[in-house]
Amino acid sequence: MRDKAEELRRRVEERVRFLSDLGAGFVFRPEKKEPAEAAAPAPHRAAVAFRVTGNAAEADKAAVLRPLEEAVRRCTLCRLSQGRRHAVPGEGPYDAPLMFVGEGPGADEDLQGRPFVGRAGQLLTKIIAAMRFARDDVYITNVVKCRPPENRTPFQDEIEACQPYLLTQIRTIRPRVIVALGRPATGLFVPSASSMSDLRGKFHDFGGIPVMPTFHPSYVMRNEGNPRVKRLVWEDMQQVMALLGKT
Ligand code: URA
Ligand code: SF4
Repeated sequence: MRDKAEELRRRVEERVRFLSDLGAGFVFRPEKKEPAEAAAPAPHRAAVAFRVTGNAAEADKAAVLRPLEEAVRRCTLCRLSQGRRHAVPGEGPYDAPLMFVGEGPGADEDLQGRPFVGRAGQLLTKIIAAMRFARDDVYITNVVKCRPPENRTPFQDEIEACQPYLLTQIRTIRPRVIVALGRPATGLFVPSASSMSDLRGKFHDFGGIPVMPTFHPSYVMRNEGNPRVKRLVWEDMQQVMALLGKT
């Protein structure tokens, strides 16, 4: 597992270097691992050491993110490319202060090539509005950019294949806060075997960016009869608003 994580880190580094050569004003600097941390069991650790540095100008960000979106649309790095109609790179301003990361495109997203446009997306759009943001103010993307068959949870190897795209989006956009929607997104940022119920409700650090895990809008919809779930999501979003000065 260690070797795999190392190999992944090397691939991310290579990809980011390639993208920065296209003009981004950021630096890839892998975090030094503490020996104790490096020895921890791999499956529940974030797969890469990650720290965001530098602050690229908007034009520089576009110089990274436009080619990245093109690369995603043509990507065949994992088996999810085989069943997709449209890959869904993500959307929103490249200098968004707030980023939402979901699990992966569903049927509607696959058809339109846009994130969170189906029923779960309508709920997410309402949540964003309740936070007094316009949907256009925030960046929305997913852990995997292509729709898993039958909307199954993405497999670990698919998440790992797709991860460099998300990491580059985060590094380039440099949001002030990330909301991780559901367990797969949370797992990418928070090295823990704990459940969503344990992880939500507090900020976790991901390379210097605060990450708030919360329940996925689809989970909220499945638990429509349980107002507690919705209330907890709202409490989490209020913490995010407070951090962004929206009180
Ligand atoms: N669910 C997700 O996790 N992402 C989307 O884009 C849509 C639904
Ligand atoms: Fe490429 Fe990600 Fe799509 Fe897999 S899910 S084919 S890695 S863009």
